[in-house]
This record gives sequence, structure tokens and C-alpha cells, in this order.
Amino acid sequence: MRRLQTDYLVVGAGAMGMAFTDALIDHADVHVTLVDRRHGPGGHWQDAYPFVQLHQASVFYGVASTVLGTGAVQQEGPEAGLQERARRSEVQAYYDDILHRRFIGSGRVTFLDGSEYQSDGTTHLVASRVSGQRTQVEVRRRVVDASYLSPTIPATTPAPFGVDDGANVVAVNQLAELADTPDRYVIVGSGKTGTDAIVWLLGNGVDADRITWVRPREPWMLNRAVVQPDPVVAIGSAADTMAAAAAAESLDDLFARLEAAGVMLRIDQAAVPTMAKTPTLGEWELALLRTVRNVVRRGHIRRATTSELVFDDGVVSLPPRSLVVHCAASGLQYPPRVPIWEPDMIRVQTIRAGFPCFNAALAGLVEATRDDDRERNRLCPPNALPDDLASWARMQVRGAAATRSFGAEPDIAAWADGCALNPVRVDPSRRDDPAVQAVAARLAGQAEQGLRRMAELAGEPPPV
Ligand SMILES: Cc1cc2nc3c(=O)[nH]c(=O)nc-3n(C[C@H](O)[C@H](O)[C@H](O)COP(=O)(O)OP(=O)(O)OC[C@H]3O[C@@H](n4cnc5c(N)ncnc54)[C@H](O)[C@@H]3O)c2cc1C
Repeated sequence: MRRLQTDYLVVGAGAMGMAFTDALIDHADVHVTLVDRRHGPGGHWQDAYPFVQLHQASVFYGVASTVLGTGAVQQEGPEAGLQERARRSEVQAYYDDILHRRFIGSGRVTFLDGSEYQSDGTTHLVASRVSGQRTQVEVRRRVVDASYLSPTIPATTPAPFGVDDGANVVAVNQLAELADTPDRYVIVGSGKTGTDAIVWLLGNGVDADRITWVRPREPWMLNRAVVQPDPVVAIGSAADTMAAAAAAESLDDLFARLEAAGVMLRIDQAAVPTMAKTPTLGEWELALLRTVRNVVRRGHIRRATTSELVFDDGVVSLPPRSLVVHCAASGLQYPPRVPIWEPDMIRVQTIRAGFPCFNAALAGLVEATRDDDRERNRLCPPNALPDDLASWARMQVRGAAATRSFGAEPDIAAWADGCALNPVRVDPSRRDDPAVQAVAARLAGQAEQGLRRMAELAGEPPPV
């Protein structure tokens, strides 16, 4: 058995593991061993469908030391005026560069790829999936679980319904590899993957009438135009959110008010959505999605046969030469929230609302710059990603409390203001800008009442 010594053993080289490691080595003179069962960094981006793009601006994604992309505003196309969004190949190349040039090049990071981490609680083993060689890792400081929120994706997760022999069901990745053109595309799933698949099909000239969309739940999505790296826009939409919350009579009413304020979008204005994972969506995409008229709203599919989809309350026939496209992995994960710093392990989770990369970088910074776990956990309480309206509201309330806590530390606040991953940062050069001051004042005027009401609606204690 090979032996290796390291300060930190980080399990998972996805967005969370990369952002944590980057901030850690930037602020502490330590050695990190990064392990992933995939053969390369970037986590799920290694297996993503080829037409995926970040759903929000590139600058909000990646690691804190190195901006992803150029920070340019798109000049042409349906999103002219909004910030660029990286495609799969760009995200993959970015993480590859960070890993090799910055991490391994520094001599302070060892990457064990194609390797499985296993532990019996005291011994830490890494087994190569290729050679079978096992390495015992002696960890001087901490083991870091950077896979706690690892999303499931269709390429690596079977469809969540039975599939009969001969049924024509494929994962979304295969849409771009078809040998035979189907007469009908049946897209299963209401999330980002499903909407991406439909926008891509329409963009490739498929008539909307050849698409059937199985939407088990109706989703709320964030308007991409209000999630931009501009403090006037970002703080302005936070102020709109608080104003909507302060006046809301119910969670449904809160989201309806957010829609009226241009913050949230829904596909069908006659339906009341129950899903709120809230990826961002462009208004041009919304217009395209609304052209699909064949929508099946009968809950979850139980089984796909060669000729029909079986639901709890009956069946829907599939026309001949239909292709059922699995876009129905749950994506975001919701494991129990646990303290990020526990004696056995650091479990990287979100802290402020959403934006996993910023949160993982923040945890890396706090690990490097604080020496007491109780203090680290006080500054960075765990949050969870949203699934429905109540969990979205809870995420906002917890995120606001966490932001107050870490934001009260001058060094962390200064770091956050300089960190491009932070969606509401105010660059020091913009602090005196009257437009920024106006939205900040508007937010300050709404925040207390808005958060209190949001906490009430979500059944969460109000933030202190
Ligand atoms: C299609 C899609 C698009 C998305 N777009 C965005 C976006 O635009 N913006 C945004 O903020 N979020 C987005 N998300 C949300 C997502 O949470 C983040 O993108 C983020 O990449 C998740 O990273 P992760 O590191 O938690 O998980 P992963 O990317 O899954 O990485 C975890 C890694 O851990 C490894 N691993 C797990 N267990 C072990 C083990 N025992 N041994 C070795 N290795 C192990 C896995 O192989 C994996 O590579 C998107 C999600 C999806 C699915």
C-alpha cells in the first residue's frame, strides 16, 4: 500500500471542492490532496449535455482567485446587454487550467483522479479505479467532504420511472448524438435541463408541435436580467424581493409579487407553480418555452412502455417514432443541514442564499483564517438549496442571517467585496455611486420587515 501525507484531504473536485481548495491555499501555507472518482476536475460538468451553459453570469462561477471568462457583456443575440455565460467546454477548460497551472503548478496540491475515497472513520484510503492501487492518506489537519451537495444528472442517474424493454428513452446527452430523427420529442422534466433541451430543439429548427413536455411540477425561475454582476441591478432586485415579502399574504402571493416586480418568471401564468429551484431564465427563452402547447401535467411518470407513458391516474399514448428524453434527475440535493465544521470532517455546504461557488470559497477562507471551529460555525451556518416556495424563502432568511454574521468581520467583508463570485458585492470604486447608494437605501428600508414576514411565511425563526 502506498502512503501519502497531506494537510487537507478534499473529496470531490467539482465546483465546491475547487473553490474551497483555491481559497484555502490562497490564505494558508498548506498542502492539499484532492481526490475525485472522475478523471479530471469540474465534477458534473465532465458529464454534462453538450449544449449546457451556466444559467447565470460566468463571473459568479468558478474559484475566487481567477475570474471565469472575460466579464464581457453580450453585444449580440437574444441576450444582448446581459453578461456572458460560459458553455460546457469553457467551464471544463477553466477548471482544467486552474487544476494544472494554479493548483498542481504551485506544488501544494496533489490530484488523485479516477480514484475513490473510502474511510472507516479513522483510516483514509484512496483507491485508483484504473490500477486498483490503494493509497493510505495521513491527514495532518482535516478531511473535507466537497461532495455533500453533489447534484444528480441524467447522464449518470437512471430515469426516475420504469422503462420497458424496447421503450425509446434516452438521457438528455443523447439528443445531440441521434442517428435517426424522431417524429416527436417527449421532454420529461420541469427544471433547467428540460428547459435547456426544449430551447435547444427549437433553436435547431424543431417545430414546437413536435414537442411534448411532461411537466410534473410547474417551476418558478429567476429572471436572468436581475441576476447580473452590477450592484444597482443585484441590490435593486434584493430590495424588490424584500418589498414583495413585506406585503405578501402567502408564499404564492410572495412569488406573484416577485413576478410583477420582474424578479421571477413562470411559464404558464394560469398555473400556480409549486417548484422553486429557481435557476435563471432569459425572457427570450421564456417566450420560446411558451410556444410548446403539448404539456402533460399529470404528476410523475411511473413507467414508459413502447407506446405509452403510464401515470398514477392513467396513460398518455405516444405517437409512433417518439423519443422520450430523460431530463428528470433531481439535480440539486437536500441532505440534512449539519455544522460545516465537525470534529471528523468539514462538510462544505451553502451559507448565503444560493451561489455554491461563493459559499465554498468562503468556507475555504474561514478555514484558513480562523482557528476555532465554534467561531467558524458561528460565522458560516449551513444553508440548503431550494426545492419549493417554502424552502426558497427559508434559504433567503438563513442566508441573510449568515451574511450578517460573516459580513460583520471586516476582513471577510473586504474579501467578499473583492470577490467576483459574490453576487451582491459592491466594488469599492462604486461605493459612492449615487445609484448604488439609492438601491442600498431602498434595501435597508425594506429588509427588516421583508425578512420577518418571509420567515413567518416559511415557518423559520426571524433572523437576529
Ligand atoms: C446542468 C447543471 C447546471 C448548473 N448550472 C449552475 C450554474 O449556472 N450556476 C450555479 O451556481 N450552479 C449551477 N448548478 C448547480 C450545481 O450545484 C453547481 O453547479 C455545482 O457544480 C455543484 O458542484 P459540487 O462540487 O457540489 O458537485 P459535483 O460537480 O457533483 O462534484 C462532486 C465530485 O465529487 C466526486 N465524489 C463524490 N464522492 C466521491 C468519493 N467517495 N470519492 C471520490 N470522488 C467522489 C464526484 O465524482 C464529483 O466529481 C448546475 C447544476 C447542474 C446539474
